[in-house]
Amino acid sequence: MIEQNIPITHETYAIWLIFSGDKVLIPNDHPSLLKCAWHELGFAHAYKEQVVKIGTYDELPCLLIDMGNENVAQQHFSLVGLRSVLNECSNAFFEIAARSWQVALFIRTHRFCGQCGSKMQQVDWEMAMQCTRCQHRCYPRISPCVIVAIRHKDKILLAQGKSQKSREMYSIIAGFVESGETLEQAVHREVFEEVGVKITNLRYFASQPWPFPHALMMGYLADYDSGEIQVDGREILTADWFDLEHLPTTPSTLSIAGQLVESTKELMKNHTD
Ligand SMILES: [Zn+2]
Repeated sequence: MIEQNIPITHETYAIWLIFSGDKVLIPNDHPSLLKCAWHELGFAHAYKEQVVKIGTYDELPCLLIDMGNENVAQQHFSLVGLRSVLNECSNAFFEIAARSWQVALFIRTHRFCGQCGSKMQQVDWEMAMQCTRCQHRCYPRISPCVIVAIRHKDKILLAQGKSQKSREMYSIIAGFVESGETLEQAVHREVFEEVGVKITNLRYFASQPWPFPHALMMGYLADYDSGEIQVDGREILTADWFDLEHLPTTPSTLSIAGQLVESTKELMKNHTD
């Protein structure tokens, strides 16, 4: 459970999740969680009233401090992006950092009421922001997103998105769920909109919080049903069927996209059709 107004003393020993801009502070000598006593964080003292408890790890409290855009890189610490945390640190650290970032971003972007424009205040017993005038209440934003690996015999459908930075990287189809839609409808719609094919045998795989900035990825496996690939040209630049034995660069298995590609490979190996 997330708690606010945590009493901090000189000796409070914790795992600190300290954000500056969209980066998190880590020790210089090792890409790991920042564990120390409060008095060792001299630079953070102005933020004492804003500490939020995100959870517990290794029997230590995980405490969040959002320093906004203040640059806090010091001699013994450095600031790193969450993608570096995903690639270089443990899964546990990534999970804690991801959750903390989403809470920090929520508080940062809900200082004023979206309904009447008045000031918002943190609710003291749950993670929410409430308007001091009209009582409008908001909770941390989570954007549901579906992602699907589509197999056709010994091939998988991979695409390159417009927003993708690397021109080498291919991934599977993903998209945000729309209001009033089931997850299954979202998968069928996204696939048809982006690459023009119909799918069948849709089954749930797993989910992963994806803090860039607040998606919840829900992964599916599916089989090709019908249609020719026709990319939409807006979100997807190119898409094709790739031989599962000879894949181009695909996302690492740290992401659910990479895990879905791996799982599709396994299915192909174990299948005879
Ligand atoms: Zn209001």
